[in-house]
Amino acid sequence: MTRIKVSPNNKTKELNQILEISGENILNCMQCGKCSASCPIGSDMDILPHQVVRLLQIGSIEKILNSSSIWNCASCFTCGARCPRNVDISKLMEGIRLTIIRKKGKSELKVDDIPMKIDEKIPQQAIVSGFRKYNK
Ligand code: SF4
Ligand code: SF4
Repeated sequence: MTRIKVSPNNKTKELNQILEISGENILNCMQCGKCSASCPIGSDMDILPHQVVRLLQIGSIEKILNSSSIWNCASCFTCGARCPRNVDISKLMEGIRLTIIRKKGKSELKVDDIPMKIDEKIPQQAIVSGFRKYNK
């Protein structure tokens, strides 16, 4: 079995920025998978929430930065509420999105992507979360 070193020494500029913005301690995660099991968007994620934390732990940032999961996350806070180690992945996801926006100078989404008529049944939380991802 190959051992992977979980090391804060692996920190890149992006990882430092993500940790600073989120205020989360990724080393508290014990990879139990509860966050992924309870995530309502899990089926639309190419990297599941617990895998995002693992990739952060080993300093593998590029995979996350190129992932669709961070944009599909609805910021519903379910993962943080279920986590037995108090890791709030919604804050990490927000930190990753902001890091990308600062790096590229823009978001992946544009105002034109907002549909003319928003489905009335969409939860308000999803609408607010969506606006955080659009270009300012
Ligand atoms: S629920 Fe918490 S401890 Fe478990 S894998 Fe997710 S972030 Fe890690
Ligand atoms: S905040 Fe994002 S990652 Fe966490 S449960 Fe909700 S959709 Fe999933």
